[in-house]
Amino acid sequence: MSGLDDNLKSLSGYLKRFEQSGILNRIAGQDHKGSAGVFQSISPVDKSVICDVAQGTADDIDAAAQAAKEAFAQWRDLPAVERRKLMIKIAEGIEARADEIALCECWDTGQAYKFMSKAALRGAENFRYFADQVVQARDGKHLKSPTLMNITTRVPIGPVGVITPWNTPFMLSTWKIAPALASGCTVVHKPAEASPLTARLLVEIAEEAGLPAGVLNTVNGFGEEAGKALCEHPLIKAIAFVGESRTGSLIAKQGADTLKRNHFELGGKNPVIVFDDADLDRALDAVIFMIYSINGERCTSSSRLLVHEAIRDTFEAQLVERVNNIKVGHPLDPKTEVGPLVSKEHFDKVTSYFQIASDEGATIAAGGEAIGDTGYFVKPTLFTGANNGMRIAQEEIFGPVLTSIPFTTEEEALQLANDVPYGLTGYVWTNDLTRAIRFTDQLEAGMIWVNSENVRHLPTPFGGVKASGIGRDGGDWSFEFYMEQKHIGFATGQHKITRLGVQ
Ligand code: NAD
Repeated sequence: MSGLDDNLKSLSGYLKRFEQSGILNRIAGQDHKGSAGVFQSISPVDKSVICDVAQGTADDIDAAAQAAKEAFAQWRDLPAVERRKLMIKIAEGIEARADEIALCECWDTGQAYKFMSKAALRGAENFRYFADQVVQARDGKHLKSPTLMNITTRVPIGPVGVITPWNTPFMLSTWKIAPALASGCTVVHKPAEASPLTARLLVEIAEEAGLPAGVLNTVNGFGEEAGKALCEHPLIKAIAFVGESRTGSLIAKQGADTLKRNHFELGGKNPVIVFDDADLDRALDAVIFMIYSINGERCTSSSRLLVHEAIRDTFEAQLVERVNNIKVGHPLDPKTEVGPLVSKEHFDKVTSYFQIASDEGATIAAGGEAIGDTGYFVKPTLFTGANNGMRIAQEEIFGPVLTSIPFTTEEEALQLANDVPYGLTGYVWTNDLTRAIRFTDQLEAGMIWVNSENVRHLPTPFGGVKASGIGRDGGDWSFEFYMEQKHIGFATGQHKITRLGVQ
């Protein structure tokens, strides 16, 4: 594995082209300036300007939507095996440029290289997985009735909008774009303004692999301008959105006039429940991994620890020791475990909870402060002595910040776990099988792991309940969103047709 110096050297090579020409929008296979000029992408590592980025408006979205519409018929009708081959070539392109993607992502978002080097490859896996599904994506059912041979078939819904956030943006973009392309949809992608670099790499890789012009278009810009225009555009048939819950609600309103189909992957305040009969060493490792890896900027992070009163003191003491040992540093240093937070705005939000925790009467058992002022670094933080009514237990902080809350009975643990507006994931640690079945049955979450951290398996459904989302990704669930079901009934004989207007 390369060290920090090697990574910095490689990065400076990769950044040169961005520094020289900035990031342009990509519409119909051509580069375009933003109609509103440019904004700047800032690195959270040292607050330096990385490059100018095209600031798209409704005009740019309109051009991209027209391009996606024009490319749709050809892409829809491309034989499935051809589409499959192309998607595999995109996966190979991603693998070939995985290090460039990883280093650019780290510099743009502050994510540690330790985790991002794998995120690029997971992006390639998404393309490979959905490439394998292409051939059967349109298959339907045969539902014979007494008088009709009924069949169903699936057809791509049309041009779709994909709006992505800044946390692990490359992987998340592929997670949406790969199934959309596999379905036969064309795409207008609006990446997060805080992390534009790797979205540009993705569209380049796709076009180099042979993706026809206009099948994937990328328009940069702000959510309230370019994002809003995408949701409102009549040619765009559906919006796949990943981001905050309140933005999801805005997107639903913005798409109402054009009756948009929406898929929402939103926020979380996910509980990890540790019972006193659990394998506590493994539980400790998983609790730490699921909130402090990826800077805690992860929708599935377990940001609320519900710990049984009998083991609370020992468990929290071990946590404090480990949390204080987490290596915070330069994200390109392969030893770094936590890098800087993505932006000033997000840094201000996360650090504001340190004061909120004190004001609410919780204990800051570890961390609770920023580190230096060269970048947006914070110490991994643990709040103890908290209760579920506090803001630190209810609100998504989205940083390396864990709130620990004790419980005494299984009923109380369940009540606390469910007592939040969100319901994305839940993690349960117990060696009592009957309890695990009973508890997970009642836990309000779209995805639950028992005696495990979050291990993603692509054919399984991914998504949340309550304020955490609407819809599911993964396996065939993705196709349900990007495709329309069609029913066709063929008469098998001369069944009786009720006759009107006959004397
Ligand atoms: P955000 O909602 O602020 O922004 C996400 C995207 O929406 C950006 O591209 C932004 O420009 C765009 N946007 C903002 N306002 C818009 C509007 N009015 N119309 C259209 N688009 C608009 O989210 P963020 O801060 O970038 O990302 C962090 C959030 O994402 C967290 O809440 C996290 O939990 C969530 N997230 C959820 C999942 C999941 O699978 N459930 C995965 C990753 C992140």
